Amino acid sequence: MKVIEKYNDSLHNPYWKFQLGPCSYEVKDTPRRVEVIKERLRADKRFQFVLAKKFPEQLIARLHPYHDYIQKTAAGLKEKDEEFYPDLFPGDGAHLRRRVDEPLWGGQWCTDAVTPIMKKTYAVARASAETALTGARLILSGQERTVYALCRPSGHHAGPRVFGGYCYFNNVATAAEFLAPHGSVAILDIDYHHGNGTQEFFEERKHVFTSSIHGDPDAEYPYFWGYEDERGRGQGLGSNLNLPLPKGSGIEMYLKAIDKFEDAVRAFAPNYLIIAAGFDTHKTDPIGEFRLETEDYGKIGARLAALEFPTLICQEGGYDTTVLGDCVHNLLTGWEE
Ligand SMILES: [Zn+2]
Repeated sequence: MKVIEKYNDSLHNPYWKFQLGPCSYEVKDTPRRVEVIKERLRADKRFQFVLAKKFPEQLIARLHPYHDYIQKTAAGLKEKDEEFYPDLFPGDGAHLRRRVDEPLWGGQWCTDAVTPIMKKTYAVARASAETALTGARLILSGQERTVYALCRPSGHHAGPRVFGGYCYFNNVATAAEFLAPHGSVAILDIDYHHGNGTQEFFEERKHVFTSSIHGDPDAEYPYFWGYEDERGRGQGLGSNLNLPLPKGSGIEMYLKAIDKFEDAVRAFAPNYLIIAAGFDTHKTDPIGEFRLETEDYGKIGARLAALEFPTLICQEGGYDTTVLGDCVHNLLTGWEE
């Protein structure tokens, strides 16, 4: 299997943390995550690494209205380690006439203050989307049946209005838009967190089916999206399937959710499948509350491979770096066996 490797990575290393009473928080998205995945896959000769290619900026900019805001804010920072957060969040219904010009007003473009812009953020986020695009192009050409794109930062919380949740540009949505003129696309998000950005991108689209298996948003980020009754809108009604699971869910519950996805995706019969592959579903993940074992990812890979769609797998979350490499390796080898 081909592994698409980013042409940059360690440049983006947010470090923000806080402790407030019993409440503490620390950004978990470190470059180490990519290193452990690479180390594990490089040790297995069945994987061939391919360096991501550059793509026209427009392929990313046209989908993300905050593209210029991220680009300009990053370019305006002086220090490599400086983290920038906007301080004004106007919310829905505001008169958003002023755009881009004032970085501090950037809350019009993002959902939270845990997704900082640093000097290299634009470069790494763009490269992450290009990593997915490189994989999509290989699938489209017919040269490869399954490709794994080692994206970082993740993308699935970045939507068509706002970014957030450690995500800047939506990698799987960018790849789906690249493939969509050539056939129908289904996206399955298996990250612990609901893929709210991806859902919003396509909720009114008939030929892009989106689905997500995730921790119940009643008790989990992103809280405001990811419920079962979100089924798509307008002509896209019926093209979204949310499969929330309670905290503590293990592989048995998980495979039942995949059964439901399978029924829906077989009925949709896409030309291409994209997996938003997060591994924060592991039982030891510091921010996930499922109970998947390291070996379980092989079973998930085998189940999804049996669908036999040309598939692009894009890396999303997964924060226990002591098991992340094995989890990814198991998903991909389970896929191939
Ligand atoms: Zn996640």
